Amino acid sequence: MKVVVTGGAGFIGANLCRELAERPGVQQVVALDNLSTGAAENLADINAELVVGSILDRSLLQDVVDGADAVVHLAARPSVPRSVADPVASHEANATGTLYVLEACRRDGIPVVAASSSSVYGPTPELPKHEGMATRPQSPYAAGKLAAESYVLAHGATYGMRTLALRFFNVYGPLQSVGHAYAAVIPAFVDAALRRQPLRVHGDGQQTRDFTYVGSVVRVIADAVERGVHHDRPVNLAFGSRTSLLGLIRKIESIVGYDLETVFEASRPGDVRDSQAADVQLRTLFPGREPMSLDDGLAQTVAWYRAAMRKPESQVSGMVA
Ligand code: NAD
Repeated sequence: MKVVVTGGAGFIGANLCRELAERPGVQQVVALDNLSTGAAENLADINAELVVGSILDRSLLQDVVDGADAVVHLAARPSVPRSVADPVASHEANATGTLYVLEACRRDGIPVVAASSSSVYGPTPELPKHEGMATRPQSPYAAGKLAAESYVLAHGATYGMRTLALRFFNVYGPLQSVGHAYAAVIPAFVDAALRRQPLRVHGDGQQTRDFTYVGSVVRVIADAVERGVHHDRPVNLAFGSRTSLLGLIRKIESIVGYDLETVFEASRPGDVRDSQAADVQLRTLFPGREPMSLDDGLAQTVAWYRAAMRKPESQVSGMVA
């Protein structure tokens, strides 16, 4: 089969392209990416074609999607702080871009698996967050993701398309970018730890997250593509764990083998306090898929950043825009 991955040169996208390229049922992998936060080098050693361009270029998008057996839509401006700085650009990439992807797939009924986000749940104290809960987006990013997943489900209901909206939680692992103001927490902490610099914690560090190793995420997505999994409601893609940032720091400390210094800074607007996925839907649709543990995933992640830092032109700091 031919699979198109929008945002395929990004962190999750490039890991997914690698997973898809190794599946015997997949003959062709095409990544469409404007390289705004992704990098061509992320696909350098993978049997995947990279088309450089934007999902907002509808004619290019249609050309790339034509003949595909499935599209995985990951392209986005994936950051709460960036959306706070520029909500219109966030909406265009995340909501309008998703509508364009769905429209490009509609004529030929190409199945679409799309990335949504746990941020749509907002600050509700109830845990774990299950898909039947009311959503309360607290940032332009979360609002755009909710709009995007609504279009994904609406195209399923209205046009009979096979669509799947997956709510990712905090995904981490190799290829995740660091070295810019909007870096996610694990790469930021691991990078600081390896450079023996203080770890900057927003808030008191007691906030919790459901961290999911990228390998576990892309295996589920590739399963969805190969088995044609679709669903008429959003599905959490996380396995129901819950770790505080201070607990995370202790784990990184034990992996690197020395004490880490932390500095506490103000909380960021739009950040939620606690996050943990209900995983019943996920386990029903993908029985037998078990996640990598946080300890093992962090060890692999630290090893990857260590190796990347040793390269002459550091992939870690060089791959981000
Ligand atoms: P990423 O920034 O590494 O990947 C996004 C990719 O989309 C990048 O390669 C970027 O260049 C590309 N892109 C952006 N705008 C584009 C456009 N207009 N046209 C084509 N390509 C474009 O981020 P990621 O963490 O890999 O995120 C992938 C998806 O997962 C996003 O939809 C994001 O919202 C979602 N998500 C990620 C997380 C997480 O923890 N990483 C959590 C929730 C949701």
